[in-house]
Amino acid sequence: QVSGKPTVVVRAHDLPYLDARLSTDKRVADLVSRMTLAEKVGQMTQAERGSVTGDPAVITELGLGSVLSGGGSTPAENTPGGWADAIDGFQTQALATRLQIPLIYGVDSVHGHGNLDGATILPHNIGLGATRDPLLVARAERMVATETRATGIPWTFAPCVCVVRDDRWGRTYESFGEHPALATVLGTSAVLGFQGKRLDSSRSVLATAKHFVADGDTAYGTGEGEYTIDQGITEQSRDHVEAVDLPPYMAAVAAGVGSVMPSFSSIDWTDDGLGNPVKMHANKALLTGWLKDDQGFDGFVISDWQGIHQIPPFAGDSPTTEQIGTGVNAGIDMFMEPSQFERFHTRLVAAVQDGEVSEKRINDAVSRILAAKFELGLFEEPFADRSHADQIGSAEHRAIARKAVAKSQVLLKNDGGALPLDSGESVYVAGRNADDLGNQAGGWTGTWQGFSGEVTEGTTILEGIRAAADDVTFSEDASAPTGGADVGVVVVGETPYAEGFGDVGGPEWAWDPADGGVSREEKSMSLQPGDVEVVEKVCAEIETCVVLVVSGRPQVLTEQLGSIDALVASWLPGTEGAGVADVLFGERRFTGRLPVSWPRSADDPVVNVGDQDYDPLFPFGWGLTTGGRTPHLDEHRTQLQDAVLDPVNGVPPAASEAIATSDVALLEGRKGLAHRLLVDARSGLE
Ligand code: BGC
Repeated sequence: QVSGKPTVVVRAHDLPYLDARLSTDKRVADLVSRMTLAEKVGQMTQAERGSVTGDPAVITELGLGSVLSGGGSTPAENTPGGWADAIDGFQTQALATRLQIPLIYGVDSVHGHGNLDGATILPHNIGLGATRDPLLVARAERMVATETRATGIPWTFAPCVCVVRDDRWGRTYESFGEHPALATVLGTSAVLGFQGKRLDSSRSVLATAKHFVADGDTAYGTGEGEYTIDQGITEQSRDHVEAVDLPPYMAAVAAGVGSVMPSFSSIDWTDDGLGNPVKMHANKALLTGWLKDDQGFDGFVISDWQGIHQIPPFAGDSPTTEQIGTGVNAGIDMFMEPSQFERFHTRLVAAVQDGEVSEKRINDAVSRILAAKFELGLFEEPFADRSHADQIGSAEHRAIARKAVAKSQVLLKNDGGALPLDSGESVYVAGRNADDLGNQAGGWTGTWQGFSGEVTEGTTILEGIRAAADDVTFSEDASAPTGGADVGVVVVGETPYAEGFGDVGGPEWAWDPADGGVSREEKSMSLQPGDVEVVEKVCAEIETCVVLVVSGRPQVLTEQLGSIDALVASWLPGTEGAGVADVLFGERRFTGRLPVSWPRSADDPVVNVGDQDYDPLFPFGWGLTTGGRTPHLDEHRTQLQDAVLDPVNGVPPAASEAIATSDVALLEGRKGLAHRLLVDARSGLE
């Protein structure tokens, strides 16, 4: 027994699958041959932490293969040790089963271990997209993997490799950007960072490419007319989906991604036989045909939260035998059934006994899940390896995140060289996002939806500015006199949210602001009236006026632009606000470039590079530098227009030299070359 760990269950037998010297394939085959149908189905079942905490013995009774923490679901003691203890407790239950198969615990480390107090929180993916730095992304996710695994969690539901095509979507910030190249290259970097060279390392976690496929490419909604509906329908041609939405998965599979999560959305060129577009959770042609058969994906498919409940015909909260059968036969291997896991288990066993699902399909699903567990080393070391727990939130980790923040800042406008600022200048800081850690971290932090205020430990942008300059005044609503300040820095933007907007959801649920949702007004991409007031006041009164937009997607401020000297897209930087100050005060140069086009108007915000009549306020790839050659906006526009803008045909070179090589290889279908590039990238990691 190693100190700090529960007593390891005595291995009463010495069967081949427990022999670490054998290949994963041999171990899987041996283990599967010994399992009963109920045990196999148990492996395919994932419950939510909250549903098993009161009665952990259910893990043993059903032989559950997995437990997850949904967004914000934390153990009673939300510390590294508290997490590890709770998960070790569940693991002890799993190891009390006849065959002693460890469970695999999963969590949404989508920009850091967001549910853990004190974790290092990175910029959300949209900010990482602005860095255009694959190695930085890989290193940053390596850091996240270390913090996650140190709490006993070997699996993250990340990265989202969605290609966002309508920024009104509530998950825009989970995307690396609107161009498939960004999602492809950075998504793959993230996979490599999470998984490292070996999954059985105490610094690695299994990654999940999500949400398969075209979740970011759904149409405007289904008749509501005002806001994009999350989980909607993709109304794009097959060619478009192949060119825009599928490449990130091609690359993720080539990089060895361990799991894939289907999307809640549907694609309208697929038909369920009853005239409905097929839900991705039921899409056999794409899940089994494209992903597993054509691409050779050998990991496992994990359904999204009650995702199969949305397969028609709908039956409310509990999955029907028909929905379960459709999902398994479509190619889903493990089912996220947070609270309905017992019913799921019973019904899937019955579906196999009735011949609706073949035992062959079950064996395939279980083999994929077990292979991941063997590769992660869970049979050898099922309990939390806490040796890296002291690195959680460490100075070294925060430095990686701080660098990512600095590199994610996009300087959209810089009249008269307003930036960088001089640390000797007197600075007047205003705006509701200047001193709010929760707002700068966004959703998936602390709770699923995130919240304003003290969400975890970190440094706000204001604190970063205070550390960099001597004379700083802060007045959130700009009510304090601005008199005498050399420069005003106004930090505005969004407050936290996650997933759906307005009328979101599956077919029949709406997101009610009264239940914690964000109101329709707040979803608009226009700057909020309160923010506009602060910007206008400060910019009218102080000679030099810098505006930072802290948000998960562009905010329309076309009318205010004339009065702003320097405008920065800060995205959702996470816990290291000092990274913003680093570029403001010239400690680092601005190098970030727009991962999405910045629209002129909130009424017409859907602009993507490659569109006909493309004319956004700031185009894709735009970003000024400080201290280097300053590109010219018109020049950039011309280069974009001259380039081949159609994403089906290639990446505009002027807009993406940093990502061009591997992207071009992928878009041209040169998988061999793409693969080599990825292997090179991988060998650059520790
Ligand atoms: C989201 C997934 C997430 C899952 C588990 C779902 O609502 O769509 O992205 O991984 O919850 O928290």
